[in-house]
Amino acid sequence: MKALCVESPNNLVIEERPMPVIQLPNEVLIKVKAAGICGSDVHIYHGTSSVATYPRVIGHEIVGEIIEKGNAVKGFRIGDRVIMDPVISCGICYQCRIGRRNVCGKLKVRSVHVDGGYQEYIVVPEESIYHIPENLSWEEAVMIEPFTIAEQVCSRAELTKDDVVFIMGAGPVGLSILKRVKLAGSTCYISDIVDIRLDFARQYGADLAINAKNVDVKEEIMRLTDGNGATVVIDAVCSTKSFEQTLTYVCSAGRVISLGFNKEPSAISQLSITAREIDVRGSRLHNNKFPVVIEYFRSGTLQVKDMITHRFHFLQIHEALKVIENPEIENGKVVLSFD
Ligand code: MN
Repeated sequence: MKALCVESPNNLVIEERPMPVIQLPNEVLIKVKAAGICGSDVHIYHGTSSVATYPRVIGHEIVGEIIEKGNAVKGFRIGDRVIMDPVISCGICYQCRIGRRNVCGKLKVRSVHVDGGYQEYIVVPEESIYHIPENLSWEEAVMIEPFTIAEQVCSRAELTKDDVVFIMGAGPVGLSILKRVKLAGSTCYISDIVDIRLDFARQYGADLAINAKNVDVKEEIMRLTDGNGATVVIDAVCSTKSFEQTLTYVCSAGRVISLGFNKEPSAISQLSITAREIDVRGSRLHNNKFPVVIEYFRSGTLQVKDMITHRFHFLQIHEALKVIENPEIENGKVVLSFD
């Protein structure tokens, strides 16, 4: 079978590998059908991920069909359509015991610390898969994983419909969060410097999409909130600067959600947090969010078809990456097919 392996930074190779084999009775063998390309895959490819190790088969937005299963597998049958959970946790450390498995002390993420799903077949335990609703195409189902990230952000923000949310950054992650925030009925403003992304944001229900190149963002947020600030600020830009800026947009008693993995320190004063009792919270991966997100997809509450703009066969990975990295090309989610 073929696998897409980042041997070392900037060196992504299409490799011939032996078929993976079921080793444990709780495992299933999946024929991969489709996969999304995530910003984090691109970071690992370029060696700009602060957590990945090499060589690494990337890809964590993976859907496929079960073609073989171990004796102890209870919840799945051969032929079932499933999505893979990238999070692997130990189940016994402090974080796992208090229900925070996504920040497990021995956390491993498929595609980051162990091989991911850009390969024709993959073996995973049944604890790491979920059924895909029948009404979804393979490529729509790929979008479930990005929405677990959005769900985690909203859960960390303790989002309510009374919140006034400001999302910085309208890339695929920012836009997924926007759709989820609008599902909650909250007011949501979003900023970016790319017009096409702001157009997407308007289509997805943003109450205002702000081009940060042309507007004083702080003034605009204060104008929109009668000088109070946003109750929740989400940093989906993830630069040292954007993290600093969050504190200038958030209201007293508000929440700042950080999604970045930047190692560079940002300059943030104690005063800006203490004096106004700001909660600064990280949001990483997701904590058991597949069931709730799958239900949004099954019920049709969440529509995602319009977010997919480009499709490639997985062996065209280099062409696909070029689309993502070319600022001239207007792109949303890029999906790989494996048939
Ligand atoms: Mn992702």
